[in-house]
Amino acid sequence: MCESSIHILKIRQVGERILRCKARALDRNAITRPDTRDLIEAMRETMRDAPGVGLAAPQVGLDLQIAVIEDRAEYQRELTPEQLAERGREPIPFHVLINPRLSIVDPTPCRFFEGCLSLNGFTAVTPRAAAVRVTACNEHGEPVEIDARGWYARILQHEIDHLNGRLFVDAMLPATFMTSVNFQRHWSGQPIAAVCSVLGVDGT
Ligand code: ZN
Repeated sequence: MCESSIHILKIRQVGERILRCKARALDRNAITRPDTRDLIEAMRETMRDAPGVGLAAPQVGLDLQIAVIEDRAEYQRELTPEQLAERGREPIPFHVLINPRLSIVDPTPCRFFEGCLSLNGFTAVTPRAAAVRVTACNEHGEPVEIDARGWYARILQHEIDHLNGRLFVDAMLPATFMTSVNFQRHWSGQPIAAVCSVLGVDGT
Protein backbone atom coordinates (compact mmCIF):
# COMPACT_ATOMS: atom_id res chain seq x y z
CA MET A 1 0.00 0.00 0.00
CA CYS A 2 2.29 2.76 1.24
CA GLU A 3 5.32 3.17 3.48
CA SER A 4 3.99 5.99 5.61
CA SER A 5 4.57 3.92 8.76
CA ILE A 6 8.35 4.04 8.27
CA HIS A 7 9.69 6.77 10.48
CA ILE A 8 13.18 8.11 9.79
CA LEU A 9 14.56 10.22 12.63
CA LYS A 10 16.97 13.14 12.28
CA ILE A 11 20.50 12.10 13.22
CA ARG A 12 22.17 14.76 15.39
CA GLN A 13 25.63 15.93 14.41
CA VAL A 14 28.67 16.67 16.58
CA GLY A 15 28.31 20.01 18.31
CA GLU A 16 24.84 19.25 19.66
CA ARG A 17 24.86 19.09 23.43
CA ILE A 18 22.81 15.88 23.60
CA LEU A 19 25.78 13.98 22.16
CA ARG A 20 27.84 14.92 25.22
CA CYS A 21 25.25 14.05 27.90
CA LYS A 22 25.12 10.90 29.98
CA ALA A 23 21.89 9.17 29.00
CA ARG A 24 19.25 8.17 31.55
CA ALA A 25 18.53 4.55 32.43
CA LEU A 26 15.04 3.19 31.74
CA ASP A 27 13.04 1.42 34.42
CA ARG A 28 11.24 -1.79 33.57
CA ASN A 29 7.90 -0.08 32.95
CA ALA A 30 9.51 2.40 30.56
CA ILE A 31 11.21 -0.38 28.59
CA THR A 32 7.96 -2.10 27.70
CA ARG A 33 5.84 1.01 27.08
CA PRO A 34 4.44 1.45 23.55
CA ASP A 35 6.30 4.72 22.99
CA THR A 36 9.63 2.96 23.72
CA ARG A 37 8.69 0.16 21.32
CA ASP A 38 7.87 2.77 18.66
CA LEU A 39 11.16 4.58 19.31
CA ILE A 40 13.16 1.36 18.89
CA GLU A 41 11.35 0.65 15.63
CA ALA A 42 12.13 4.16 14.38
CA MET A 43 15.79 3.80 15.45
CA ARG A 44 16.02 0.53 13.52
CA GLU A 45 14.63 2.13 10.37
CA THR A 46 16.86 5.20 10.80
CA MET A 47 19.97 3.01 11.23
CA ARG A 48 19.11 0.98 8.12
CA ASP A 49 18.33 4.10 6.12
CA ALA A 50 21.66 5.78 6.99
CA PRO A 51 22.98 3.02 6.70
CA GLY A 52 24.94 2.24 9.84
CA VAL A 53 25.80 -0.71 12.06
CA GLY A 54 24.63 0.94 15.28
CA LEU A 55 22.61 3.87 16.55
CA ALA A 56 22.24 5.22 20.08
CA ALA A 57 19.27 7.24 21.35
CA PRO A 58 21.33 10.43 21.97
CA GLN A 59 22.07 10.44 18.24
CA VAL A 60 18.37 11.01 17.61
CA GLY A 61 18.13 13.62 20.35
CA LEU A 62 17.01 11.51 23.31
CA ASP A 63 18.96 11.07 26.56
CA LEU A 64 17.93 7.46 27.02
CA GLN A 65 20.16 4.40 27.45
CA ILE A 66 18.99 2.64 24.30
CA ALA A 67 21.15 1.45 21.40
CA VAL A 68 20.35 -0.67 18.37
CA ILE A 69 22.94 -2.74 16.52
CA GLU A 70 22.91 -4.66 13.25
CA ASP A 71 25.82 -5.48 10.94
CA ARG A 72 24.31 -6.94 7.79
CA ALA A 73 26.22 -9.15 5.35
CA GLU A 74 25.47 -6.66 2.56
CA TYR A 75 27.47 -3.98 4.41
CA GLN A 76 30.52 -6.24 4.30
CA ARG A 77 30.55 -6.96 0.58
CA GLU A 78 33.27 -4.42 -0.24
CA LEU A 79 35.72 -6.01 2.18
CA THR A 80 37.89 -8.93 1.12
CA PRO A 81 37.79 -12.18 3.14
CA GLU A 82 41.25 -11.22 4.46
CA GLN A 83 40.01 -7.80 5.59
CA LEU A 84 36.97 -9.35 7.26
CA ALA A 85 39.17 -11.87 9.07
CA GLU A 86 41.64 -9.17 10.13
CA ARG A 87 38.79 -7.14 11.65
CA GLY A 88 37.04 -10.14 13.17
CA ARG A 89 33.94 -8.94 11.33
CA GLU A 90 30.93 -11.09 10.61
CA PRO A 91 27.19 -10.42 10.31
CA ILE A 92 25.47 -9.43 13.56
CA PRO A 93 21.66 -9.74 13.68
CA PHE A 94 19.53 -6.82 14.79
CA HIS A 95 19.28 -6.45 18.54
CA VAL A 96 18.54 -3.85 21.19
CA LEU A 97 20.61 -2.86 24.22
CA ILE A 98 18.96 -1.01 27.09
CA ASN A 99 20.87 0.19 30.19
CA PRO A 100 24.06 -1.59 29.03
CA ARG A 101 27.15 -2.02 31.16
CA LEU A 102 30.44 -2.83 29.46
CA SER A 103 33.55 -4.43 30.86
CA ILE A 104 36.83 -5.01 29.07
CA VAL A 105 37.78 -8.69 28.78
CA ASP A 106 40.88 -8.30 26.59
CA PRO A 107 42.36 -4.77 26.57
CA THR A 108 44.70 -5.46 23.64
CA PRO A 109 44.18 -2.40 21.41
CA CYS A 110 42.90 -3.10 17.90
CA ARG A 111 43.45 -0.28 15.42
CA PHE A 112 41.11 0.30 12.50
CA PHE A 113 39.40 3.24 10.86
CA GLU A 114 36.08 4.03 12.52
CA GLY A 115 33.29 6.44 11.64
CA CYS A 116 30.06 7.68 13.17
CA LEU A 117 26.71 8.79 11.78
CA SER A 118 27.00 11.84 14.06
CA LEU A 119 30.35 12.85 12.53
CA ASN A 120 29.16 12.53 8.99
CA GLY A 121 31.97 12.58 6.44
CA PHE A 122 34.89 11.94 8.81
CA THR A 123 36.88 8.93 9.94
CA ALA A 124 39.97 8.12 12.01
CA VAL A 125 41.97 5.18 13.25
CA THR A 126 40.49 4.39 16.65
CA PRO A 127 42.00 1.86 19.05
CA ARG A 128 39.42 -0.39 20.72
CA ALA A 129 39.73 -3.24 23.18
CA ALA A 130 39.86 -6.66 21.53
CA ALA A 131 37.12 -8.25 23.64
CA VAL A 132 34.33 -7.01 25.88
CA ARG A 133 31.43 -8.29 27.95
CA VAL A 134 28.16 -6.41 28.00
CA THR A 135 25.21 -6.89 30.29
CA ALA A 136 21.98 -5.14 29.38
CA CYS A 137 18.24 -5.56 28.98
CA ASN A 138 16.61 -6.32 25.67
CA GLU A 139 13.45 -4.60 24.39
CA HIS A 140 11.32 -6.99 26.47
CA GLY A 141 13.08 -6.03 29.68
CA GLU A 142 14.88 -9.38 29.85
CA PRO A 143 18.54 -9.51 30.91
CA VAL A 144 21.08 -10.30 28.21
CA GLU A 145 24.80 -10.98 28.42
CA ILE A 146 27.08 -10.61 25.41
CA ASP A 147 30.68 -11.71 24.98
CA ALA A 148 32.14 -10.11 21.90
CA ARG A 149 35.45 -9.89 20.08
CA GLY A 150 36.67 -8.10 16.98
CA TRP A 151 34.35 -5.77 15.08
CA TYR A 152 31.33 -6.57 17.23
CA ALA A 153 33.33 -5.57 20.32
CA ARG A 154 34.23 -2.33 18.50
CA ILE A 155 30.57 -1.58 17.71
CA LEU A 156 29.57 -2.23 21.33
CA GLN A 157 32.28 0.09 22.66
CA HIS A 158 31.29 2.80 20.17
CA GLU A 159 27.55 2.63 20.91
CA ILE A 160 27.88 2.39 24.67
CA ASP A 161 30.30 5.34 24.56
CA HIS A 162 27.43 7.33 23.00
CA LEU A 163 25.29 6.58 26.06
CA ASN A 164 28.01 8.10 28.22
CA GLY A 165 28.47 11.24 26.13
CA ARG A 166 31.61 10.05 24.38
CA LEU A 167 32.43 10.04 20.67
CA PHE A 168 35.06 8.16 18.69
CA VAL A 169 37.09 11.36 18.37
CA ASP A 170 37.79 11.05 22.12
CA ALA A 171 39.51 7.70 21.52
CA MET A 172 40.97 8.18 18.03
CA LEU A 173 44.59 8.67 17.04
CA PRO A 174 44.31 12.39 16.17
CA ALA A 175 46.87 12.41 13.38
CA THR A 176 44.72 9.92 11.44
CA PHE A 177 41.56 12.08 11.49
CA MET A 178 40.44 12.75 7.92
CA THR A 179 37.48 13.18 5.62
CA SER A 180 35.84 10.02 4.32
CA VAL A 181 36.58 11.27 0.79
CA ASN A 182 40.30 11.45 1.52
CA PHE A 183 40.18 8.08 3.24
CA GLN A 184 38.77 6.56 0.04
CA ARG A 185 41.19 8.54 -2.13
CA HIS A 186 44.44 7.88 -0.26
CA TRP A 187 44.23 5.24 2.46
CA SER A 188 41.49 2.69 1.87
CA GLY A 189 42.87 -0.82 1.65
CA GLN A 190 46.28 0.06 3.10
CA PRO A 191 47.47 -1.80 6.19
CA ILE A 192 46.73 0.21 9.33
CA ALA A 193 50.35 -0.06 10.49
CA ALA A 194 51.47 1.55 7.21
CA VAL A 195 48.86 4.32 7.52
CA CYS A 196 49.93 5.06 11.08
CA SER A 197 53.59 5.06 10.09
CA VAL A 198 53.10 7.48 7.18
CA LEU A 199 50.94 9.79 9.32
CA GLY A 200 53.50 9.86 12.10
CA VAL A 201 51.66 7.69 14.63
CA ASP A 202 53.52 5.12 16.67
CA GLY A 203 52.63 1.93 14.82
CA THR A 204 53.47 -0.57 17.53
ZN1 ZN B 1 28.42 6.84 16.51
